[in-house]
Amino acid sequence: MLNFIPLVTNLLISHGSTRNYTGKSLLRHVFFRVFPCASVAIMPFFIRLKQYQGPFGPGMNLLRKSHSPRPTRPDRLPARLFIVLLLSLAASACSQHDSEVYHDQFFAFGTLIDLTLYGVEPAAARQASELIEQDFRTMHGNWHAWEPGALTRLNRQLADRETAIADPSILPLIKEANRLSQLSNGLFNPVIGELISLWGFHDNPLPIGTLPDADTIKQLVAQLPSVEDITIEDNRISSRNPAVRYDLGAFAKGYAIDRAIERLQELGINNAIVNAGGDLRAIGRHGDRPWRIGIRHPREAAILASIEIDGDTSVFTSGDYERFFEIDGTRHHHIIDPRSGYPADRTASVTVIYNNAATADAAATALFVAGPDEWLAIARDMGIGLVMLIDTDGVIHMNPAMRSRIRFEPGMDIDVRLSEPLS
Ligand code: ADP
Ligand code: MG
Repeated sequence: MLNFIPLVTNLLISHGSTRNYTGKSLLRHVFFRVFPCASVAIMPFFIRLKQYQGPFGPGMNLLRKSHSPRPTRPDRLPARLFIVLLLSLAASACSQHDSEVYHDQFFAFGTLIDLTLYGVEPAAARQASELIEQDFRTMHGNWHAWEPGALTRLNRQLADRETAIADPSILPLIKEANRLSQLSNGLFNPVIGELISLWGFHDNPLPIGTLPDADTIKQLVAQLPSVEDITIEDNRISSRNPAVRYDLGAFAKGYAIDRAIERLQELGINNAIVNAGGDLRAIGRHGDRPWRIGIRHPREAAILASIEIDGDTSVFTSGDYERFFEIDGTRHHHIIDPRSGYPADRTASVTVIYNNAATADAAATALFVAGPDEWLAIARDMGIGLVMLIDTDGVIHMNPAMRSRIRFEPGMDIDVRLSEPLS
């Protein structure tokens, strides 16, 4: 149980450093005193309460699931706090002192980055963690979709039809995003920044009670911004379509996690997890056991299933519960179907297991857009072998290999539809 890491929150408890990111709150203070070893686990919830958000998603959000016109929902708060207490008690109960595990957390990409190292000397672990944190901050600054940095500079130049000299910090990222977009048949489309901004997902907080203008959506979709419009020669990037605007929110977190894992490996660290708001890549093992990862239920504040991973594996989930607002009971979330210009409306969540995190991240978004009818074909095109897609009717679609990897939590009411094998 010690190495159980639900995506919903980090129940991997260690006694490494924790930091206070969210200012003072009496509740948190009391809670952390009473359940000190649970503090790591519940940090995300308090962060969520503070409504911290950023360009790459807000992180875990069980306490406040909606950016709806009823933003505080005080009526639900006690129930949600109760869930937090339960999860944290579970965490307390399952934790033991494990001097082999180093644990650290910091903010980047609008979410909580959670680093777990196994079997590393404390001084070396601290040093590694500081490096990783610095790397994340630099990447976040460079790749931000709307705060001034290398990516916004590139976007401005592309919009002005200039040939841009790409900053070395973004060139490899852009090339990989373009490649994955082509493989996904454009369903993962990193150049629909205008649409995403129009929907308000470049705003913080999210727009309450306003929908984008339907004609403007139509016009943007008709311009068909696509990575096919981009030409890259050496470090020069140009676009033949003025509607192209990079937004790497569906992919940059994964790419950053890959860089962090590379950094750890360079430092000789071979047993670790880098977890960004629930999306993670693990290398090695937790001592003599595999890592165990929980996958959250898209509609309940609960863990739906878990998987064990050994060696080098990424687990990424895209969900319609991550960033959304509601108007008249309709959920408008942050994963946009580039073909319609509207949020993809048949999927609740997609979990992808793959070795590298960048591909897993892009694929989770692409398969979310593909939905229950098309996910299998797109997964094949992208070379993904393990997928679970939960549609908005609650049906769980997965390929047989995924079914044999995953273990549903007891008592879950599940309706599984197995697909043909993926490979
Ligand atoms: P999360 O970051 O919440 O885990 P995703 O990886 O699916 O979820 O990324 C969603 C983000 O990606 C959105 O906030 C937006 O910035 C961007 N995005 C939305 N739709 C698409 C799409 N079809 N292709 C590429 N990026 C998208
Ligand atoms: Mg993604």
